Amino acid sequence: MSASEDESDGGSTVDLTILGGGPAGLAAAYYAGHRHASVRIIESLEDVGGQLIALYPEKYMSDVAGFPNVLANQLAASLAEQGLQFRPELRVAEEAVAMELVEQDGEELIRIVTNTGAVYLSRSLIVTTGHGAFAPRKLPLEGIDEWEGKGLLYAVREKAELAGKRCVIVGGGDSALDWTLGLATTTEPPIVLVHRRDRFRALESSVAAARALEQEGRARIMTPCEVREIHGSDRIEAVTIENTASGERERVPCDALITLLGFSSHLGAIGLWGLERFGRRQLLVDPTTMRCSKPRIYAAGDVAGYQGKITLITISLAEAAIAANNAIAEIRHEKAQPEYSSE
Ligand SMILES: Cc1cc2nc3c(=O)[nH]c(=O)nc-3n(C[C@H](O)[C@H](O)[C@H](O)COP(=O)(O)OP(=O)(O)OC[C@H]3O[C@@H](n4cnc5c(N)ncnc54)[C@H](O)[C@@H]3O)c2cc1C
Repeated sequence: MSASEDESDGGSTVDLTILGGGPAGLAAAYYAGHRHASVRIIESLEDVGGQLIALYPEKYMSDVAGFPNVLANQLAASLAEQGLQFRPELRVAEEAVAMELVEQDGEELIRIVTNTGAVYLSRSLIVTTGHGAFAPRKLPLEGIDEWEGKGLLYAVREKAELAGKRCVIVGGGDSALDWTLGLATTTEPPIVLVHRRDRFRALESSVAAARALEQEGRARIMTPCEVREIHGSDRIEAVTIENTASGERERVPCDALITLLGFSSHLGAIGLWGLERFGRRQLLVDPTTMRCSKPRIYAAGDVAGYQGKITLITISLAEAAIAANNAIAEIRHEKAQPEYSSE
């Protein structure tokens, strides 16, 4: 198809569109900007930063090179400062819903339409949409949705909101353990951690730290246990927790029930764009270039899939560098040859 003249124009044709302003998208913007490419970032949330600001802004991280111990939202701010330094066009609160390849004046372009109806054209595309649209996994309790906004949380956004509150955390993975540790000095002790198995999936060091908190009386770990009922009128006041081994039930007072059971995610509209997939949630890429199954379309970060993939920020940043340098090289018909940032 050819790009029509009268459609709602989202601006000029740029060298590169980046879908998603998380760590991978921001890093891709940096590397493309450094090559003097014109860049547009489309981000569905109000702000850039991806999972770091949306899911765990106040979690301390220690595994990102150069940052021995950093709060996720501080790391997000640094990534944004670096990624936006070449002033890419930034479109926030817009979700990409359609993509097609079009021809305009003899040039092959990529046409993105967002949920606002805006249309954007570019010569290349890097998909860095992470997990796509998030949906939290919920406790299988009838009427669970009615407690949202009344003390039921699927993520911790601000620790201060939970200051002095009685909290029950449900989950057995890293998030549940991280927040048990992270909130233990904020909430009213003991913070209660409920997991349906005796064994946790989280890092051994986090489990050991939680057990140490339990020894000090600042945490209570309940396993193998499940939340069976939520009680309260306007807000959550208590939960009934059952020990699934003994069948014993206990009513535990609580102001906040934080269920950290992970998120189910899907590619959403991106899965319908005719790009080859890797499993259900990722786009297949060639890891040596990060190219997808169509020309001039690349992916990096959590959304990019290949054998042996590890979803970590460090990996996302490296993939973004590969994707941006290859995308720019492809549209310029040159060899991908990254330049150093210093002269
Ligand atoms: C609780 C938790 C703790 C973690 N801790 C660590 C850790 O300690 N160390 C570590 O290395 N990694 C950690 N991770 C993983 C890390 O956050 C991810 O690997 C990283 O965020 C991936 O970056 P990304 O840019 O690929 O995707 P994301 O961060 O998911 O960013 C994708 C962005 O794309 C946007 N988007 C999605 N769909 C669209 C669309 N259709 N149109 C426009 N925009 C769209 C989203 O809104 C989002 O902002 C953790 C993850 C979680 C959930």
